[in-house]
Amino acid sequence: MQHCRYILLLTFLFLHLFSHVSAAPDDSLVVHFIDVGQGDSTLIEYRGQTMLIDGGRRDAGEKVVTYLKKSGIEHLDYVVASHPDADHVGGLIEVLREVEVEHVLDSGKEHTTDTYIEYLKLVEEREIPFDIVNHGETIDFAPPVEMQALNALSESEERNESSIVFKITHGEIDFLLASDATKDNEMRMVNEFDVEAEILKVGHHGSKTSTSMDFLRKVQPETAILTYGENEFGHPTRRVVSRLNRIGATIYSTYEHGDIVVTADTNSYNIETEKWYAIYDRCREASELIPSCGM
Ligand SMILES: [Zn+2]
Repeated sequence: MQHCRYILLLTFLFLHLFSHVSAAPDDSLVVHFIDVGQGDSTLIEYRGQTMLIDGGRRDAGEKVVTYLKKSGIEHLDYVVASHPDADHVGGLIEVLREVEVEHVLDSGKEHTTDTYIEYLKLVEEREIPFDIVNHGETIDFAPPVEMQALNALSESEERNESSIVFKITHGEIDFLLASDATKDNEMRMVNEFDVEAEILKVGHHGSKTSTSMDFLRKVQPETAILTYGENEFGHPTRRVVSRLNRIGATIYSTYEHGDIVVTADTNSYNIETEKWYAIYDRCREASELIPSCGM
């Protein structure tokens, strides 16, 4: 009997050890939509590789740096300025000062503001390799995760039209990060690329300049992320929100939910948000019980 128990114990230990040895490495792609008020800032992590796309406005820089440090990130492999507007590039100044950055990717669209010039000066001072992303280019960020610029038009008249739009693919799960791309950009992307994506970072903070119904029909997003704060532009517009509802997307916003973190494996994803009250309020108004309302 004693012998039997000993064998059972050994078997248990062996299985326990084996289960640890054979456990798959963490294959999660984590995309953080950082709440920077009115603006964009998106952090992407995959197996220790890191990329920050935009940093919100200048006064959001400190929040972004704090967020990176809190997430254990002292070093960024890539920083991307999707286009030179202050609500995207401003916060990158503090990031470039405080965090070690390996590469900077830029739209190539120039701007004459002090903010944009200061960002460029810092890149030069720190001798960070600086590259311009080409339209359609594939970025070798963290294979096997695929990353393609579906829009990057440095020759555009309008700064928003120059926006770098990335599609990121991890197995079956796609993210489309629309920056401030316009409806014209959307139509061009629809004609040139497969824009289908489970998760859409809605273009231009929900402005009427973006997110046409034709585009949404091709993207077919399950989840829509709106990035905005208190603003005088009327972002997001009611029309865009109603289009997102019509397409059946679940809407999250940094304004209501704070920081939004999407963790994807190759065939599913989950979403965690800093604040839950928006969903709670929606549940109180819901006429029928929905599963997440029990939480
Ligand atoms: Zn913007």
